[in-house]
Order: sequence, then C-alpha cells, then structure tokens
Amino acid sequence: MLYFPRPYPDELLGSLIGRACREIGLPHKELVFAVSGERGTYSSIFLPSYLKQLSVLTDIDIEELVFSHSSFPYIVSFMPAALMTRLKDLVLKRQGVSGGSFNSLANSVTSGVLYRRLCRQCVAEDLQEFGTSYWHRSHMLPAVYYCVKHGQVLEETNIAVKYFNARWSYYLPHEVMGRFIDFEIPGSILLEIARHSKDALAKHADYPQSVADWHAQYRELAEHKGYLQSSPSIASWQLARDLQRAYGSRFLVNAGCSYPLERRNSWPALMVRRRTEVPFIPVKHILLYTFLEHCGSAEKKLDYTKPGKRPFDTSVLDEEFSKKIKAGLKTLRQHLPHLTLAEFMTKCGCWGPYRHQRKNFPKTAALVEIFKSKHSKSPVQTPNRRRQAR
Ligand SMILES: [Zn+2]
Repeated sequence: MLYFPRPYPDELLGSLIGRACREIGLPHKELVFAVSGERGTYSSIFLPSYLKQLSVLTDIDIEELVFSHSSFPYIVSFMPAALMTRLKDLVLKRQGVSGGSFNSLANSVTSGVLYRRLCRQCVAEDLQEFGTSYWHRSHMLPAVYYCVKHGQVLEETNIAVKYFNARWSYYLPHEVMGRFIDFEIPGSILLEIARHSKDALAKHADYPQSVADWHAQYRELAEHKGYLQSSPSIASWQLARDLQRAYGSRFLVNAGCSYPLERRNSWPALMVRRRTEVPFIPVKHILLYTFLEHCGSAEKKLDYTKPGKRPFDTSVLDEEFSKKIKAGLKTLRQHLPHLTLAEFMTKCGCWGPYRHQRKNFPKTAALVEIFKSKHSKSPVQTPNRRRQAR
C-alpha cells in the first residue's frame, strides 16, 4: 500500500495532502490521481472530494477526517439541523455530491480566506513536537486573524488558497514569511471572532434547530442595544451602517461579506428582520453576534450620529487593555528592556485601537506611562540618521 502521512491535530486535509506530495515525491495532480483513480478531481484545501480514499490511506474513519480535519463542520455550523444532517450524509457517503458540489460547499470558507495564515508560536511548537509545521484549520477561517490557543495575531502569507495545485502550495508554515495586517479593530474583538469561529468547528448539539431561532436572538440583542426602536427599515440600516464602521470596509471585503450602504437589504439589516428564513454563511452570524455583544448603545436619533468610524465600547476595552498590560509587564519582564512601546503593546494585543484613540483609553495610557518611564527602548538609529546627527 502507498505510504501516506497522518494528519496532526487541527491540520487541514489540504495541508496533509501537501505534506504527502513532498514525502512521497509526487506532484499534486499525480498524487490525486494515485489516490482517487480519477483525473481532474476537484480538490480544495478546505474540503477535498476524495475523502473515502484518504480514509483508507490514513486508516482514519471518514467521519473523523471530515469533522476534525476539514472545514465542513464550520461550513454547516449555522445551518438548520435537518439540512446539516442531510449534507453530512451526502458528504460522508458521497452520494450525489459531485466535485462541483464540494466546491460550492467550500465556498463559504474560500470567499473569506484568500491567503494562508499562520501563528508563529504554533509553528515553533509544532516543529518541536512533530518535527514539522503544518497549516491549521482554525487559523484559516474567514475573519480569523488571531490564534485562540496563544492569543497571538496571525501572519498572512502570499500563498493564495485557491491555487492548490501550484508548486508553492507545498510550502509549510516554517518555510514562509508572513505579514501582520492591522485592521484597526481591537485585538479583543478579533480574538472573540476567532473564538466563535473555532467553536463553530466543533460539533454543537445545543445549536438552535431553526434559522428563525438565531435571528430572534440577534433581534433581542439589537433591541437591547437600542437598535430597532425606529421604523424597521431605518433601524436595520442604522445597524448595518454601524457594523460597517466598527469593522471597516477593508476587513469586511477580506472576510468575503462586504456590502454597499446604499442598499437597504444588506445582510446585517436582513439578519435582524422578522420572518427571515434565508440561511447566511457562518462569518456573517459571527460578525453580527460579536458586534451586537460589544458595540456601545445606538444613538436614538439618526440626526445625532457623527460621521466616521464608530468605535466599539472603549470603556470596557480600556479596562481589558489595562489588565493585559499589567499581565504583560509581569510575563514579559525579561524582554521589556529590548522592546519599543509599539512592540510591547502589539504583544499585549492592544496596539491598534489604542494607537488611534489614545484619549479614549485613560487607564491604558497611565500604564503606558509606567512602561515608558521604566522600560521603553529608544527607536533604533539607522546609519543615515547617525550620519546626519554628526
Ligand atoms: Zn498559535
């Protein structure tokens, strides 16, 4: 039998296939042919279609592969229970599910994850424990830019997820460089989104049974925050506008769920309307729920709203940041003399929001002064600057 590697915890099947190509020495197309016996088989890093063969090769039950190593549980996480069960049966038995159907199923993830992401701390731990790094399922979900395990910001690489057949798709996380993207969203909010997304990967027996139950929950939260008090269409438009201001257009585009504000029927507006039966992709549920949980109260009159980005409730964040900085001052004690303020605050997960609205974070600012007086490293002088100084 063909040698085939086995998946590591939270490893995507696409990552396993990439490692198999390297270890066996076959290019991706040839490996898929050897595994599936078919040419031109559809393969997504999130949900490959030749699950049965992968199950034989890895000696792992097909259900275990699907629920622990593909994005399938996330894809169906906000579907009504009956639909979820039907899709599960179809995928597990592959009855009437063509490669194209796998493709459309994977779309709710693919549209919000353009490039592979990694957590540098996971990479270091995986190398130490397994002798290799690999691509984690929980890092490659729409709107997820934090590693829940380490509370660290993820790096985004230049490896586009849709070109799964390309030669560079075999690269492993420890072999590539990534970049941090600053969306100017509080780290605590991004971490919350990552937590909800990771939860969606796990099977939840207590999920509501119908789409209407979720929407009732969102309506209740929206009402609690002062939305929905005026006429339904204006109030839901106000909610859609504030959600867009809070996350920013760039973040929503990257998450695959942007919308023009002129449209009255944008997805946040539809999701809080009565009698909504349309299913929405998981990232929309997670972004709406996180926004409603953390936003400040809505202004009652539209006339009083100011233009510009609407922040999340900064007094709660100020409290949270000061706790993080106190913890950071203790845990990073040895490294403090070598860190600039920006480096220290980034490590604490507080830099983006604080940097742009310092006066809204009085408690955080007081602790920053302590850091500056005792530890802050002077900015590095470049040779040019030194020359000019002379
Ligand atoms: Zn990590």
